[in-house]
Amino acid sequence: MKGKDYYEILGVSKNTTKDDLKQAYRKLAMQHHPDKAPADKKKESEEKFKEISEAYAVLSNDEKKAQYDRVGSAGMGNVNQEDIFRNADFSDFQDVFSGYSGGFGSADEIFKRVIFGGGIGRQRYGDGTQGDAGEDLEYNLSINLKESAFGTEKEIRFFHNSKCKVCNGTGSKDGSRTVCDKCHGRGAVQIHKRAGFITFTSAQTCPKCHGTGVVIQSPCYTCHGTGKAKEEAKVTVRVPGGVNSGDNLKMTGHGNYGRDGQGDLYIKISVMEDDFFKRKGDDICCNVKIPFILAILGGKIDVQTLRGTTSLNISEGTQPGTTLRMKDLGIHNEMRKHTGDQFVVTEIEIPKDLNERQKNLLIEFDEEMKKSKSRFKFW
Ligand SMILES: [Zn+2]
Ligand SMILES: [Zn+2]
Repeated sequence: MKGKDYYEILGVSKNTTKDDLKQAYRKLAMQHHPDKAPADKKKESEEKFKEISEAYAVLSNDEKKAQYDRVGSAGMGNVNQEDIFRNADFSDFQDVFSGYSGGFGSADEIFKRVIFGGGIGRQRYGDGTQGDAGEDLEYNLSINLKESAFGTEKEIRFFHNSKCKVCNGTGSKDGSRTVCDKCHGRGAVQIHKRAGFITFTSAQTCPKCHGTGVVIQSPCYTCHGTGKAKEEAKVTVRVPGGVNSGDNLKMTGHGNYGRDGQGDLYIKISVMEDDFFKRKGDDICCNVKIPFILAILGGKIDVQTLRGTTSLNISEGTQPGTTLRMKDLGIHNEMRKHTGDQFVVTEIEIPKDLNERQKNLLIEFDEEMKKSKSRFKFW
């Protein structure tokens, strides 16, 4: 907004009257109407339209005009677009705007689209009735690490809409349907919503026929005319090995029923944390305590794996924090056709509460160590 001269933009003088201002804006708004511009000039005309509307919003409002006159154009720089347009009155220009927008266009639609960056566009609203595709559903399924490692089958129960068996999905007791008189079969009605000075016009699903465009004279008692019935469903989900938290399994056709098709069911997987194993991709990691004698002398130790207990070789002089790999004992990933490894991080177990003899043996051992060290040093 910096450096803009709103008076110059609208081609008016500083002490212009409100009527002159209106006229100047009206002329320019018609000239630069975005919906009137050819496709290649659209962007340019939108920019211009935005500029003149902003100028008008400021100059037509006494308070904002005073502020603008006081601090100049630069002073409006820290005022955002919404503030500029708040309380601005464009109601006198409805005719200018609605002329070009193709039926449901209005000042508000143009403002929302051009000035506030769009979003609503033009809603589908016209000849065809609104479709009735069944919605997709989501189901959260928790499994444990072992189930995620090798895959599992789970029977789940959930509620979805299915076709009403009494009326066979027609919603009608006797099969009679007539065109909806509220929306005249269009399935949508026009609504007006006020947001600040702007009235937004948009299409909304017809509340009478719920977008179907038809009304049922004598509705089915069971489904109250919707043609749908809530029903508990039971499905067996085959969870493939390797799934991880956040993965979705699609169960085609298990979502809600709609006249134009059944939605799908998405099984959202969450893998519960395991007390012992941590998962890293297809690998799993764990910490294993090794008796200090075994760490020093080497030997074998039994380690818990996803596939049961397995013997692991500990080599002589193993240090704490050493990572040992147990090949192919990780996650069996069916999707990637890959099996991860298990990684074992060693912790050394230091014995406590030793008896006298055990302590003496260690002291003896320590002296022997010192001797061998000093001998080594001496030579
Ligand atoms: Zn209707
Ligand atoms: Zn029914």
